[in-house]
Amino acid sequence: MITETGTSETVVILGASFAGLFAAAACAGAVRRVIVVERDRLSVQPGPRPGVPQGNQPHVFLHRGMLALEELLPGVGAELESLGAIAIDTGDLAWLAEAGWSDYGLKAFTVLSVTRPLLEDVVRRRVRDLPGIEIRDGVRVVGVHRHGEAPMWKVSLADGSVLEAGLVVDASGRSSRLPIWLKDEGLGDVQISEVDAHVGYATRTYSVPPDAVRPAGVVLQLAPAMLTGGLALPVEGGRWLVTAVGVGDQRPPRDHAGFEQFLEGLTDPAVAEVAEAGEPHGDVHLHRQTGNRRHHYERLRRWPPGLLVVGDALCAFNPVYGQGITVAACQAVVLRDSLRSGASPMVFRRLQRRFARVAALPWAIATGQDLRLLSSEGRQSAAQMLFGAWAGEVGRLAAHGDARATLAMARVYHLMASPVVMFHPALLLASIRTRWRGAGPANPRPPRRHAPA
Ligand SMILES: Cc1cc2nc3c(=O)[nH]c(=O)nc-3n(C[C@H](O)[C@H](O)[C@H](O)COP(=O)(O)OP(=O)(O)OC[C@H]3O[C@@H](n4cnc5c(N)ncnc54)[C@H](O)[C@@H]3O)c2cc1C
Repeated sequence: MITETGTSETVVILGASFAGLFAAAACAGAVRRVIVVERDRLSVQPGPRPGVPQGNQPHVFLHRGMLALEELLPGVGAELESLGAIAIDTGDLAWLAEAGWSDYGLKAFTVLSVTRPLLEDVVRRRVRDLPGIEIRDGVRVVGVHRHGEAPMWKVSLADGSVLEAGLVVDASGRSSRLPIWLKDEGLGDVQISEVDAHVGYATRTYSVPPDAVRPAGVVLQLAPAMLTGGLALPVEGGRWLVTAVGVGDQRPPRDHAGFEQFLEGLTDPAVAEVAEAGEPHGDVHLHRQTGNRRHHYERLRRWPPGLLVVGDALCAFNPVYGQGITVAACQAVVLRDSLRSGASPMVFRRLQRRFARVAALPWAIATGQDLRLLSSEGRQSAAQMLFGAWAGEVGRLAAHGDARATLAMARVYHLMASPVVMFHPALLLASIRTRWRGAGPANPRPPRRHAPA
């Protein structure tokens, strides 16, 4: 067994996906050495890898996440765009929600659309170049133990080596084994909350000629009365990711014919039309591990100094709301700011609580929506029901051209504002007025294709 002696200024991060890489970026410059341990072999070319089985599925950053990413890695957005990532204003998406079409063309927030492997590759290269960072790939972490004296933690790897560290950050995603390791360390059981709507994803890549599709992308949202939906988004290289989603026994299939049939059966043909306009490549990729799962580390009676948990290992969300990467980036900004201000041992417990708070609003949004779907076990709380009813009312205003309602919803969805903005007096008045006088015409369906030249 080789033990690599560390100091209290050595940080070991478990997992080199987004949460691990963002945490490493947050530590760079503030500590002497950061070792990110990743079980996958990381290729120099962007591509799917076994440790992130969701790699073929579409991944978008919410606007809040893009801002956090720029803070951590300045200029990364421009680099991604130079490599083909597509900047989309969400107002240019054809978006069918429960109450109807969103206001097409109303400018809202910019997001970047890019394949996950390219996004991860760019982030990884940038993080690797930061001072004091080492990414050690192809080796699994098999245990984490406290030991009496500084630097306090020993991290055991599958190749028999042991790393000593003053700070361990678990960013190993949904499959994190930290709850078991902490129990072995005598720290008790971690409480877990789960809400699983049993959402299934199926995605296929298409080459689509430029200008064949008019909207910047298409979203057909799931809802209690719409148990299937879809997504079509352009990514680098003239390709589009076309995704079908469904819940419970309405999850989309893997076979090509079944996939196409599923798209044709959706509430609106907008997603199927993107597929029809293009040429498919490769297989349909399924993903079904999508439940919301939150570990309440902040509730443990004792929290050991020098340990933090971030990203999906702390709180994983139903991906249809596109929150996971954004939450990981926001947690990293909190970590960076805390390290810059000089963290003392007590700060770790406080920090872990702050990470939990970063996840709290997205958790409330995702689970509040999912509990409305019959495929979820569990019931909404009274507060969730009341909020859901009002959000439905704001959605109705938005679907009838109320720009304030559309922007309030977008701000909350992109984690740019608290849900309080949905209770603006002007929206309350608009609700009363339209209930009395009628809501006016619904937003029209966005244009399908560019008119032929
Ligand atoms: C279908 C799908 C679509 C999604 N779409 C979006 C989206 O549009 N927008 C969004 O923001 N989020 C999306 N997400 C969520 C997003 O993928 C995650 O939130 C994001 O990857 C951050 O996760 P993470 O880094 O915490 O964990 P992961 O990405 O799961 O990475 C964990 C890493 O740890 C490594 N690892 C695990 N165990 C060990 C070990 N013992 N030793 C060493 N390494 C280990 C793994 O190999 C992996 O690299 C989606 C998820 C799914 C499933």
